[in-house]
Formats: sequence, C-alpha cells, structure tokens
Amino acid sequence: MLVDMHIHEKTFSLDSFLTLEEIVSIAKRRGLDAVCISDHDSMGLRERCAEYSKQVDFPIFVGVEFFSLWGDITAFGVDSFPDHRVSAQEFIDHVNKQGGFCTSCHPFRKNMRGLAEHLRDVKGLHGVEVLNGSTPVELNRTALQFCRELNLKAIGASDAHVPQNVAKYVTWLPEKVNKLEDFVAQLHHCETKPAIWNGISYDIVTTF
Ligand SMILES: [Zn+2]
Repeated sequence: MLVDMHIHEKTFSLDSFLTLEEIVSIAKRRGLDAVCISDHDSMGLRERCAEYSKQVDFPIFVGVEFFSLWGDITAFGVDSFPDHRVSAQEFIDHVNKQGGFCTSCHPFRKNMRGLAEHLRDVKGLHGVEVLNGSTPVELNRTALQFCRELNLKAIGASDAHVPQNVAKYVTWLPEKVNKLEDFVAQLHHCETKPAIWNGISYDIVTTF
C-alpha cells in the first residue's frame, strides 16, 4: 500500500490551508491507499476522520506530530500524548508503552524543529522521515544517511499544509490495510520504502 504519513488539516493545525475533503480527494486521484493526519500537538480530528473515512470508503489514520524538546516526532497508534513539551526520549517512551510507532520528522530541516544529531541519542525511535515534502533534498539525504546508520524504518511523507504538496512523498508498505492497528503492526514488522510522485505514478526509491 502507498500512504502519505504526515499531513496537516486546517481545523487543528492553524498553519494548514487543507481541508479533509481536499486531502482525501488528492490522495484518491493519485492512487494512494490511505492517508495519515498528523496535526501539531492534536488528535482532535479523530472522530471526524472516522466518520468521513466510512463515508468515502478510504482509510484515514490519525496520529499526532508532537513537538518534543528536541523537535517534532509523529506517532501513530497512541491514545494520548503529554499536554506539555517533554524530552524526545520521554515522548518516545510514552509511545512505546502504548505500542505505537514513532518517526522523527524532518530531522535536519533548519527550523529548530528536527532531532538532527540527537537521532543518535534517543532509544526506541522507529522511523525517520528520509523524504519530507517541506525539506530541501540535501537535508533529506542527510536524514537517509542517519536512518541507515541507525537501522531505522525509512519513511516518506509530504508534511503538506497546501494542496500542491499532498502526496508528493509517500511510504510503501507490503499490504493494504484499513485499520489503524493493522497499519501500526505493519509499520513495526515490515519493511517500509519511501516513494516519490513523478507526475504520473510513484517511484519507490532506495537513494535520491
Ligand atoms: Zn508537520
């Protein structure tokens, strides 16, 4: 399956211009099998996504992009998250206690919101965004090097806040699933591959 693992919807991410309808419509047009909503420090869209997902028969997995003291980390398969900023390690431990899957977002983007070299200092992190749609390619390449060095899962995600970025980068997983728990299980147990939209379809990449 192909899934965009990091998208902001405007109701709870105040820096986003995207509606849920637009996100799903673009994803369907590009042949994605699911999308993730990862709003800034919010899972407020959960109920709305559950309803809309049924209505349009398209999986929408809601997680969170949590701003830890060392930078942004997305998590899926969690019911809760700290109500204030905590260390990256504390957040990662919190996710692991709930069986969730956590990914370092745009670790080398120069906006003080990525884990950067701290990737080497945390334990229990699962994935790294090696393709983040809001990050220059050379900084994504650095993320890819760290991902390989640390033997973490390689994640592709648009981090879209505007329509033209939705589904620009995505993640390939071996099986199509509809439920969040099956998605999280697959992330934990299967290989992930980043993929890039080429204007017609997706190229799965091992290097870029
Ligand atoms: Zn984001």
